[in-house]
Order: sequence, then structure tokens, then C-alpha cells
Amino acid sequence: MIDLRSDTLTRPTAAMRAAIAAAEVGDEQRGEDPTVNALLRRVCELTGKEAALFLPGGTMANNIAVAVHARSGEAVLAHHDAHLIRSESAGPVVLARVLIDALDGADGHFTPEDVTRRAARGTLYEPRTALLCVEQTHNFAGGTIWPLHELQAVTDAARDAGLAIHMDGARLLNAVVAAGTPASDYCALVDSVWLCFTKGLGAPIGAVLAGDADFIERARALKHMVGGALRQAGIAAAACVYALDHHVERLAEDHAHARRLADGLLELGLDVHTPDPQTNMVFFSADHGDFLGALERRGVRIGPVGDRLRAVTHLDVDTSDIDHAIAVVGDVLSSAPEGAHGQRYEYG
Ligand SMILES: *Cc1c(COP(=O)(O)O)cnc(C)c1O
Repeated sequence: MIDLRSDTLTRPTAAMRAAIAAAEVGDEQRGEDPTVNALLRRVCELTGKEAALFLPGGTMANNIAVAVHARSGEAVLAHHDAHLIRSESAGPVVLARVLIDALDGADGHFTPEDVTRRAARGTLYEPRTALLCVEQTHNFAGGTIWPLHELQAVTDAARDAGLAIHMDGARLLNAVVAAGTPASDYCALVDSVWLCFTKGLGAPIGAVLAGDADFIERARALKHMVGGALRQAGIAAAACVYALDHHVERLAEDHAHARRLADGLLELGLDVHTPDPQTNMVFFSADHGDFLGALERRGVRIGPVGDRLRAVTHLDVDTSDIDHAIAVVGDVLSSAPEGAHGQRYEYG
């Protein structure tokens, strides 16, 4: 099976499993796991932040960050297609009790003027705006990158308006590799940022949230509150350290594979929404009966995201898999449309 539904589907490699097996461990909850602590130091170096916190996953990182930055009844600005809005079960609304105020714009981006206009509130009738969230890369907009200068313009507007700034950096390292901009340059523009280790980096568990020491201390208390405190988490952190050492530069291969796939789908005459993919995602449409079911029955999995289809390249997919997937799509398109089975899901 060639599984392109998400880059979360990677399985730990043999070498990563060896690193897991060899991990030194301690009690993470007490701050005594040496491998977790080594990972946190690595993320601090990478992001230029003072302190960091190991978490089971990224959704918890977003929810905790929003709850630290914003108080109940305040407003949080985010793009309308943000993962925070689309795929986190209304976590910020329930856990932080904030109003999420959605901004529009192509590619998951919005303008400094949008930020300034929405932030200038706080009369009797309006919530105070506390926080701006940005997503790098932007998942549902197509794995798009915020170029540094554009990000700087919106974060400057947010700072001028007195907002805190949080970056959902689930795939920040895809942006770093594709754009050649150091992670610390992007992160210098925001107060908090987290990285996902279970997407393109190929680890089984883990996200790391980073910020200043005061932010991380408050985040740690919320992590405990929602049951996120861990024990011998070095087992998981060892895979994350391994991924930082071995799986970052290779993200360029995933990006090349996404371009190859987009080219192949375009040649087949499909409507490709990301004809020139910036990172590891290809969004497209195909109106051909139960297209996804027909692919799956031929050994290729692609997932729906909203009313589009998304193929995500990753560590477990090589060039010949991409070529095979393109051939399978061609085969399905040249056969009679098949009847519908199954359900539609959204994937992270
Ligand atoms: C996957 C993802 C998340 C959530 O991370 P989990 O580890 O799945 O909870 C948040 N934001 C973006 C942009 C993502 O792609």
C-alpha cells in the first residue's frame, strides 16, 4: 500500500527503533528524563527560545499555548483554514474559552492591515484581542510557506497592537528546508512555537513547545492539568532526537516528490490546486465516481480534506512509489467510474 493520506503515517525506521531501545530515561514529570532534556535543549537551540516543553502531540501544544496567551473571553486571530480552527475539536473555545476570530486570505496568509483592523477592538461590546496565531507551513492551504518578510509584516502589526504571537510550527522544518531560512529567524518573530515530530520527521510520538521561561512554566502547569505529564518519556524523545539528526535535510526529497506527483497529476488532466507545491502536499480534485475507493483497491491511499483531495509525501514513500501512484491514478481515470463505498475522514 502506498499511503499518501498524511505524513503522520510514517513508521519508525530500524535505526530510529535502535535509538529508542538505547534511550536513557528518567521521570519527565519531575524534569529528570535526560533524553527529554537533551531534546528540549536541541529545540531551544533550533528555535532560539529560552525554554521548551515535551508534549504528546501538537493539538495539546496549540491548546496550551492559546490558554497561556489569552484569557477567557478574549479573542484570538487565526486564518480561517488554520488547523486550530478546522481540526482541533474546538479545543481553544472549550479549554481557553476564547473567541476565535477567523482571517481570510489566499495560501493561509493574511495582511498586516487585517491584523491591525481586527486587533483594534475592546469597546464595551467587543472582546479584547489577545493573540495572533500563524501556521508555518500552512496545512490546509496547501503546505504553503510564510516567507520571512511577509511573516515579519504581520507579526510587526500584531506587536504594534499589543498582541502575543503563537506559531503552529507543525511543519516549520519543511519551511526551513524548502526556503533555506533558519528556524530561529522565523521563531524570533513569535512568542511561542511548537514543532511536530510525528509528521515529516517520522517519529512515533511527540511535539515540543518553546517560548520564554515564564511562558513554559505556565504551559507546564496546563500540561499537567490536561493529563499530559509523562514518565519515562525518553523512549519517545530518543526518536525525536534521532529525527533531528537524520530526518531534517531529507525533507527536500519529500518536496521533490510532491512536485513530481503534481506534475504527473497535471499531465493526467486533473485539476491540481497546488500545481507548484511549496513543500510536501498536493491538493487536487477528481470527479470520477468513487475515485478514492478505486485507488485504494489498487493499493494507493489518498485522503479527502474538506471537498478536495490531499496527497502528502513522506519518509515511507520513494520516487518509484510516486511514479507508481501516478500510474494507478491514470489507470483509475481511464477505467469506468466505480460505485461509492466507505466514508470520508479528515486527516492531520
Ligand atoms: C498535525 C497538525 C497539528 C496537530 O498535531 P497533532 O500532533 O496531530 O495533535 C496542528 N497543526 C497542524 C498545522 C498540523 O498539521
